[in-house]
Amino acid sequence: MNRGDCFAKADAALKEKVAKNRDAEAQRVEKLYQQIPRLRQIEDALKDNISKFAVFAFSGNKSEDAFNEFRKRSLDLQKERSEILIKAGLPQNAHERRFYCEKCKDVGYTEEGNCECFKRELSKQMLEISNLSAAYREKTFANFDLSYYKNPVDKEKMELTLGYAKRYVKNFKSNKENLLFMGRSGSGKTYLSCAIGIALAEQGNYVCYVSAQDMISEFEAEKFGKGDKTIDTRRYYDADLLIIDDLGSEFSSQFAESVIYNVVNSRLNSGKPMIISTNYRPSELSGAYHERIVSRLLNEFLTPIFADVDVRELKKLRR
Ligand SMILES: [Zn+2]
Repeated sequence: MNRGDCFAKADAALKEKVAKNRDAEAQRVEKLYQQIPRLRQIEDALKDNISKFAVFAFSGNKSEDAFNEFRKRSLDLQKERSEILIKAGLPQNAHERRFYCEKCKDVGYTEEGNCECFKRELSKQMLEISNLSAAYREKTFANFDLSYYKNPVDKEKMELTLGYAKRYVKNFKSNKENLLFMGRSGSGKTYLSCAIGIALAEQGNYVCYVSAQDMISEFEAEKFGKGDKTIDTRRYYDADLLIIDDLGSEFSSQFAESVIYNVVNSRLNSGKPMIISTNYRPSELSGAYHERIVSRLLNEFLTPIFADVDVRELKKLRR
């Protein structure tokens, strides 16, 4: 599944909801007409009045009396309907079929572009393909708990980093920085990269989250496997944001290095941002990877500061 599939699926999902709503509304109005048959007669009489008026208007007849007669008839019918609805304790538009989305009248877009109703469906699809599976979807900005950082210095560091991450999402379209999250395991790197990914996917961006090992395994399977059609490494190049988690935990090999280099380099060249997290310190990176990778990571990525604590331990204690 790719970006185009997401749009097609979102479109299909919206159409299904619109159709369902249309059927439900038709049934509701039909039931209303069965309960109060006079409402149907009024509706038919109003339609009849409109079509007769159209004939009159095109005939060139300029009679003011005739015009007023049409107008009066229409107003009388509407007044009668209004009174019936009030008496039945129903809203004044109870006889009208309601749209699934009033804002776009169910077409899925407005003058400003895609309508909210379509964006909602698209964001679901984007989350679906982002790999930020159910387990990771809890890791949102809203759920981020600074109270785990007891030491005021740690707390302040994380507050700044959290603020930075939120601004990153806000400015994503115009400012496509690459981020390298370095820090000890459990310091919140995966959490914040997921929070950014989820927020951006919800806004309709094509986000791809993957661990370094899984990404390399997929390239391996593609190159040496038996032509598994479900493998699609294109997304590592195509996604609006690629999040590579836990760089350094992968099985080290020349192939792994070349995959990392190719993906990082190609995305840098095409201006597509990445967030990479690693437990390594800068000095350790140099020992683990070839200079051409290290220099890209240290020169082309911003490195927000993470507090030097293991929040996972604190979370376990609190439970
Ligand atoms: Zn809409």
